[in-house]
Amino acid sequence: MADASFDAVIIGGGTKSIVTAIYLAKYGGMSVGVFEERRELCSGLTSEIGYVPGFVADCHATSLCDWYFLPVIEDFPNWEHNGGKLFHLTGSAGIISVDDQSCWVLYSHEKDPTRELTAKGLAEFSSQRDADTFMRLWQAVGKGSKFEQAFLDEIYNPPVPPGVPSPIEKWTMDYLAQPDCLVDYSFLDLPTIYAMQRIWERKAVVYMFARISLFGGALLETTPGFE
Ligand SMILES: Cc1cc2nc3c(=O)[nH]c(=O)nc-3n(C[C@H](O)[C@H](O)[C@H](O)COP(=O)(O)OP(=O)(O)OC[C@H]3O[C@@H](n4cnc5c(N)ncnc54)[C@H](O)[C@@H]3O)c2cc1C
Repeated sequence: MADASFDAVIIGGGTKSIVTAIYLAKYGGMSVGVFEERRELCSGLTSEIGYVPGFVADCHATSLCDWYFLPVIEDFPNWEHNGGKLFHLTGSAGIISVDDQSCWVLYSHEKDPTRELTAKGLAEFSSQRDADTFMRLWQAVGKGSKFEQAFLDEIYNPPVPPGVPSPIEKWTMDYLAQPDCLVDYSFLDLPTIYAMQRIWERKAVVYMFARISLFGGALLETTPGFE
């Protein structure tokens, strides 16, 4: 091994390195050596002994969307034949109320393609109004929507020049102009919790969607001191 030579050497075998390595190998025709100091590759995707000795902590990424992988799947059409596989969880988010132990699951697209199961659960957990809101939101931004296309155009293309609306900005302007739009322009300037309160009825639902919005960087930060 000590005298091995490669066209390219990558120090660290994280997810980015592995992706770089397969592109260099397939599309650059290069031999690639990946050197990782840990026992496995893709450290962001592993578990390890955490701060409490003897307990294996889940230190890896838990929220992986299928659109993360679209370009790689396109560029490597044989990836599934070569052992690649995407597994989808049954639920992609959820709520358990500490007050009455009731719960709600936001099912994944694979489990609930029409979203009716998820909306039915939300009607029981919260209210019919929240269930209806969920269906309207899904129609606006869910799979197959114009938002999905705008989102993919935004993230997988170079940034637009200053002053030119990006695909998501264009979609937002179009959506806000629609008569059945869930919100108005002022929504965009609201701190996340207040924005979510405008849409959802039950407080637990407000918090869960606020968390998802903040996690995805979609809205402004939570108002400090909000109870
Ligand atoms: C707790 C946690 C939860 C996360 N959750 C999510 C999530 O839900 N969704 C999501 O999309 N992302 C999540 N992330 C982020 C995601 O894991 C990282 O963005 C991703 O792993 C970064 O990939 P990378 O290749 O840049 O670096 P890493 O995956 O960190 O890889 C770097 C590699 O280099 C190795 N290395 C470093 N120095 C050397 C050296 N000198 N010699 C040899 N090897 C070396 C390291 O051991 C490591 O394997 C999470 C991260 C953490 C820590």
